[in-house]
Amino acid sequence: MNTPTHAVVVGASVAGLLSARVLSSHFDRVTLIERDVLTDLVGARKGVPQGQHTHGLLAGGLRAMADLFPGLEAELTQAGAVSSDLIGDTVTVQGGVRRPRVHSGIGLLCLSRPLLETTIRRRVLALPNVTLRDGLSFLGYTLSADGQATVGVQCQTGSGEDLQLPAQLVVDATGRGSRTPAWLESHGFAAPAETQLPINLRYVTREYARRPGDLGGANAFAVLPQPPHEYTLGSAAAVEGDRWLVMQGGWLGHHPPQDEAGFLSFAADLAAPEFHAFLSTARPLSGFSTYTFKANVRRHYERLTRFPAGLLVVGDAWCSFNPVYGQGMTVAALEALALERVLTGRRSSTPLGLTYFKAARRIVELAWSMAANADLAYPEVPGPRPALIKAMNWYMGHFQRASLHDSSLATALFEVAHLLRPPSALVSPGTLLRVSRAARQHRTEQAALSVPA
Ligand SMILES: Cc1cc2nc3c(=O)[nH]c(=O)nc-3n(C[C@H](O)[C@H](O)[C@H](O)COP(=O)(O)OP(=O)(O)OC[C@H]3O[C@@H](n4cnc5c(N)ncnc54)[C@H](O)[C@@H]3O)c2cc1C
Repeated sequence: MNTPTHAVVVGASVAGLLSARVLSSHFDRVTLIERDVLTDLVGARKGVPQGQHTHGLLAGGLRAMADLFPGLEAELTQAGAVSSDLIGDTVTVQGGVRRPRVHSGIGLLCLSRPLLETTIRRRVLALPNVTLRDGLSFLGYTLSADGQATVGVQCQTGSGEDLQLPAQLVVDATGRGSRTPAWLESHGFAAPAETQLPINLRYVTREYARRPGDLGGANAFAVLPQPPHEYTLGSAAAVEGDRWLVMQGGWLGHHPPQDEAGFLSFAADLAAPEFHAFLSTARPLSGFSTYTFKANVRRHYERLTRFPAGLLVVGDAWCSFNPVYGQGMTVAALEALALERVLTGRRSSTPLGLTYFKAARRIVELAWSMAANADLAYPEVPGPRPALIKAMNWYMGHFQRASLHDSSLATALFEVAHLLRPPSALVSPGTLLRVSRAARQHRTEQAALSVPA
C-alpha cells in the first residue's frame, strides 16, 4: 500500500493559500502552518502588516484566482467588493495629464486586502484534505539522511513546544523575510543570488467614509508621478463597507506626513485639485497607517542548478516588488497556476523546485522588469541601466501619451500593466503605427495649446 502523501505550506497568506489550493489536488494531505492566530475577523494582522494598505488586485490576478476558485468574483462582490471597469471607473492623472475614462470591458474588483485573504482562506479550508495549524512558528526544514532533500519542517507552538512535521513537499510562502537563503547556505547548498533595487518608498494610508458622487463617481482614483522629476502619489480605492482607502506615498524619501494638516497639504501638492478637495471634506474612519518599503528584492532561485528535492519557494519569498504597481498577489496567483501545470505534467526526477522555478521564471521576470524599469527612471535608484531599458522607457513615454488619444492603445496598456498580456503586445507593427499616429495628434494639440490667443 502506498504511504499517503503530505505537503506542508509555511505561511498562510495569499501565496501560501493559493499554493495549498493547487497542492490539494496532488497530495493526500496539505497542512498550512501560520505563526499568526487566524480568526474569521476581517482585519489586518501582525504577520501581514501591509494588509492595512491599498491592495489593488490586477485584472490578471483576478482571472487567475477565479481559475483556482470558481465563483470567487461573485462571492467577493456579494461581500461588498466594488465591481468596476478597468478604465471606465478609474481616474488616472499622471504628470498632470488626465486619462479619458473610456469603457474597456475589462473587469476590476476594488476591495480590501483582508476581505480577499479571508475569502480565499475560507475556500481553501473548505477543501477536505487541507488543514490549518495556526499559532505555529516555522523554525527550519528537516533534511534527509543523504542531505539532498527536505523531508519535513520543525516548528514551535505558542507555548514553546517543539514539533516535527514530516512531509514529501515543503513550500516556503513566508514572504519577504524568508529564511530559506540562509538555511540553504548553512546546509551545503548555494543561496540564490539576490538583486535589490532600493527605492525608499513610504505609504501612509487612512480610511474615509465614501459618499455618493465622491471623486466624480469613480471607484478608483490615482494621481501618479512622472519620473524623473516627480516623486509623490495619491490614490483612493473604494472598498467594501462604503469606505475609501486613501493612500499617499513617495519614492526616495519624499514621504507623506502622518498628521491631519500635513496629509492634506501633501495632497494639495499633487496635480489633481479634486483629490485635495475630496480629502478636505471626507470623514476619516481611522488613524494613519505607515509602511516603508526599502527595496525591490529578487532572489534568483531560477538560476540555481542544485536545490533540495521536496522544497519550493513562492510569492514574496521569491520576489518582492514595489507595491505601487500592484503585482505581488497577481504574481503569486500566476505562480500557483504554473505549479499546477508542473505537477500535472511531471515526469522527470529533477527536483520539483528546479522544474518549478524554470516554469515560473517568466512570470517573475516580466513583473520584475516592469517594476524595475519604472523605478530605474529615477536616476537616484542605483542599478544597471542597459540601453534597452532607456529605449523601453522612452517608448513607453510615447505610448502613454498616445494612449490618451486612442482607446485601443489605452486598453492594451492596461492589459499589460494588469498582467493579462505580455509587454510584447505593445510593440506589434500595428501598435507601432497607432502610437506614431497618436503621438503626432498629441504634438499637434500641444502646439495648438501653446499658441498665444
Ligand atoms: C505596502 C504594501 C502594499 C502592497 N500592495 C499590493 C497591491 O496593491 N497589490 C498586490 O498584488 N500586492 C501588493 N503588495 C504585495 C502583497 O502584499 C504580497 O505580494 C502578497 O501578500 C503575497 O505575499 P506572500 O503571501 O508571499 O507573503 P506575505 O503576505 O508576506 O505572508 C507571509 C506569511 O507567512 C507567515 N510567516 C512568516 N514567517 C513565518 C514563520 N516563521 N512561521 C509561520 N508563519 C510565518 C506570515 O505571518 C504571513 O502570514 C503590497 C505589499 C506592501 C508591502
